[in-house]
Amino acid sequence: MGVQLSERVGQKHHCGIDQVISGQSTSDGAGVRLTRYIGSQSLPELDPFLLLDFFESDDPNDYIAGFPSHPHRGFETVTYLLAGKMRHEDNAGHGGVIEAGGIQWMTAGRGIIHSEMPEQEHGRLAGFQLWVNLPAKDKLCDPAYHEYPKDQIPVEHRTPGVDINVITGVTSEGTAGPVRGVVTRPLYFDIRLSSGTSIEELIPPDHAGFVFVSEGEISVRSDTGSDTVAARQLGVLGPGNAVHIDSKASSVRFLLVAAQVLNEPIARYGPFVMNTHAEIEQAIRDFNAGKF
Ligand code: FE
Repeated sequence: MGVQLSERVGQKHHCGIDQVISGQSTSDGAGVRLTRYIGSQSLPELDPFLLLDFFESDDPNDYIAGFPSHPHRGFETVTYLLAGKMRHEDNAGHGGVIEAGGIQWMTAGRGIIHSEMPEQEHGRLAGFQLWVNLPAKDKLCDPAYHEYPKDQIPVEHRTPGVDINVITGVTSEGTAGPVRGVVTRPLYFDIRLSSGTSIEELIPPDHAGFVFVSEGEISVRSDTGSDTVAARQLGVLGPGNAVHIDSKASSVRFLLVAAQVLNEPIARYGPFVMNTHAEIEQAIRDFNAGKF
């Protein structure tokens, strides 16, 4: 039986951009100013992603109050800092400081109570917090951390002017990020492009993903056209198994993030994300009973 080469190696279909999100200014924690992209009115969720916040300020009034003690159950929180320092401490005695360029991938599982506070009283604080859902079978797993400073995150220098900080997942050139074993098999790449360069990456077909432009402007070239995503915008990737991104500025930096779609019901109440309302009520009872 003849199988065409294109079928054996898999035909590439380039994702377009389904939706561009400009974010919603809000505050969270004890009064930290941030911009919410996923978990906002215009994009309540992007399965398996539940929330994406971007924060950036050199005014301590915007961040100094931090995120005092609060619980999580049923998902993972991912903190990636671009500038400044954040100290975290939890009720199991785990703690530390995340610094610029560092990642913390925290699996809250059945429950954790922690605080996330700026470890600085002035200067610039900037970064992301992403929430990644867990499948029903893993929602009550033991809490776990993957935490890596900047110098343990490999940078792939693909071609002149194309650099990729690989936090998790494996690039098409084989660079693997240090965060491993996450159940939704995510890709989390922080990519820099100089003027006139471009990058192509494969996206597993059962994944959903997005790009977030932190600097400059990009063009996402699909099989039928191209879509622009500007600075401080999130672009939701449409169907496909590859992305082709062209730099549209002299200095471009963006996140490319994707993970496996769960297709499970979502019941959500603040820091608890489960599958049913009854499980949310159980989470509240467990938290109030001191079982986290
Ligand atoms: Fe938290």
